[in-house]
Amino acid sequence: MNKIIYLDAAASYQKSNAIIDAEADFLRNRYANAGRGICGRAAAVDDMVTTTRQKVAKFINADVHQVVFTAGATDGLNRIVSMLKPNANTVVAVSDIDHHSARLPWVGAGTRIAVCDLYNNFNIDVSRVPYADIMVITAMSNVLGVAQDVAAIIKAARNKNPNVITIVDAAQFVVHDEIDVKKWDCDFMVFSAHKIGADTGLGILYIKNPDLILPDKFGGGMVARVAGNKMILNIAPERFEAGTLPLTQIAGLGIAIDEIKHNRPNLDLIKYMYDELSQIPRIRILSARTATILTFVVDGMHVLDFGAMVGARGVCLRVGTMCASWIHERLGVDGSVRISVGAYNTTDEVATAVQIIKGIVK
Ligand code: PMP
Repeated sequence: MNKIIYLDAAASYQKSNAIIDAEADFLRNRYANAGRGICGRAAAVDDMVTTTRQKVAKFINADVHQVVFTAGATDGLNRIVSMLKPNANTVVAVSDIDHHSARLPWVGAGTRIAVCDLYNNFNIDVSRVPYADIMVITAMSNVLGVAQDVAAIIKAARNKNPNVITIVDAAQFVVHDEIDVKKWDCDFMVFSAHKIGADTGLGILYIKNPDLILPDKFGGGMVARVAGNKMILNIAPERFEAGTLPLTQIAGLGIAIDEIKHNRPNLDLIKYMYDELSQIPRIRILSARTATILTFVVDGMHVLDFGAMVGARGVCLRVGTMCASWIHERLGVDGSVRISVGAYNTTDEVATAVQIIKGIVK
């Protein structure tokens, strides 16, 4: 069996040895719960959580009290709905490049959905942002891979409604560019740790004004004091972190942040594959040459068949709708093939993948 060529970083990033070692070291040598013990080992875990939170805060240009650990982007996006408690009259602006996790929680809550107009490149048309109480912005589509001008969209939304609450889904953006929540001036922002090389089960939720938001989850760690059935809430961010945190995953996150900051995926690999695959008449590329990912369909071949064929030859890529039905509907396709790279992918790997694809799509 040939070595696997993993070209699916946008679904989940491969883990470096340093991150795996940090998690193993935590489990083997440093394990204890956080916020619950006074022995030296427990205090060291508290320190680890604190320093990792500080690192995340710096990474996104936030203050530490604004950084909440969650179970992932989807978890954060759902929790925002619980925090904001919308009703049937709440207007939520969304767009057709959203991942299901950005829009469906609002659909599930029975809100009024307003779909933003898009430019030709499918990013939100800043000049035609609708009136909304809440606006969800996908900073970078997981299908088309082009960064939005988040700051301009938020400014435009505030011109329509100064009280609009803005939420940024940065699950893909975080891999390729620096997040600056102050520059964006968003109210909430989420991403998942596993997309930047840390582990699954951990995400970040940024809350601009955490002291104005009530907790959506209750339990250990989120209260300062309990008297009978009265609770005095903990300060932020702990008031949003009921229960034991995903400590093993947190043990790897700081290293993942250092690595992704200094070693982003090489997008020349995407351009190379774009140039090669665009020469094949049966391949119709949907993404731009300068995008962070390469998405296409193959004329006369179902994407699942294509995925199975390249998969059998060792190329691991993503096929289907990628939890982004709306953009596929707009593009008039049932699904697509997506290639994405991590900093670990090499020129040789993508050259081999291109040859394998050419062998299948003649
Ligand atoms: N938003 C976008 C744009 C994504 O690409 C993803 C992951 N595919 C998510 C949200 C959800 O992330 P997770 O599954 O880690 O919660």
